Amino acid sequence: MFRSRLSAITFIILCLSANSVAADSDSVDELCKKIGKKLSSVSVSECLKLNFNKPRFYSVNGLPLLEKHYFANSSKVYAPKILFIGGIHGDEYSSVSVTFKWLKTLDRYHSGSYDWHFLPLANPDGLLKKKSTRVNARDIDLNRNFQTGSQLLTAIDHWQHKTKQRPRYYPGLNPLSEPESQAIQQLIAQIKPTVIVSVHAPHGILDFDGQVQPPSRLGPLRLRQLGTYPGSLGNYGYNIKDIPVMTIELEHAGIMPKPAQISAMWMDLVRWIKIKTKSKEIVALIEQQ
Ligand SMILES: [Zn+2]
Repeated sequence: MFRSRLSAITFIILCLSANSVAADSDSVDELCKKIGKKLSSVSVSECLKLNFNKPRFYSVNGLPLLEKHYFANSSKVYAPKILFIGGIHGDEYSSVSVTFKWLKTLDRYHSGSYDWHFLPLANPDGLLKKKSTRVNARDIDLNRNFQTGSQLLTAIDHWQHKTKQRPRYYPGLNPLSEPESQAIQQLIAQIKPTVIVSVHAPHGILDFDGQVQPPSRLGPLRLRQLGTYPGSLGNYGYNIKDIPVMTIELEHAGIMPKPAQISAMWMDLVRWIKIKTKSKEIVALIEQQ
């Protein structure tokens, strides 16, 4: 009797976990369908073929935050770890589409020299609104929802007293109030990236916060360091976590760069990482971790 009850319980647990695995892959498949419908530059099959990891983080509306991890070869002692984030602003379509193109490249050519962790769509709710928004489902700019250093104004004080209080930049009353920014903060804590790359549009420049010498350009984008805002990822990464943050600002939010430009940006990024891997500054950064 006891044994049969135990096996029944085991059976139920196994069924439940099988169901949750199915539900997870269903939710990724569903999201791929929605992304394919929304973005003309990302097809459903392209998204599905990337075979995203089992979701660990979800948006306010319960959509999975897509994650894909490409591990470095275990023989690489000084493998830089790159956390790559697209679409933290939901109305910057090209930032998601170009990140998907680079993911596709990496999927084919990952050499194992570096550890890549991709979060290609950090704000799915913003993207998938009927009219896409910069902010998330609770109208918060996720790129202003990170912690600030003790010497800085809080993001909400800055928004209230130093800006025109535009709703598009609303940081929320408290840092890390949103599941999407919490997910990024947790990923940073887990991965301890050597560098964070975040893709935006439409300023058409390369921005960089960090003590490491940045590249002078990425493809058509020239380096122009704009400084950081309280609550931004650049400010959090550099000032609080001491991790360099590269912000790629594509030229247009709704128009894709040319294929040659997309590959030139990728080549320049990988070349910069390769050079930095051999330099003392990046080795020092990795040794700190
Ligand atoms: Zn942006």
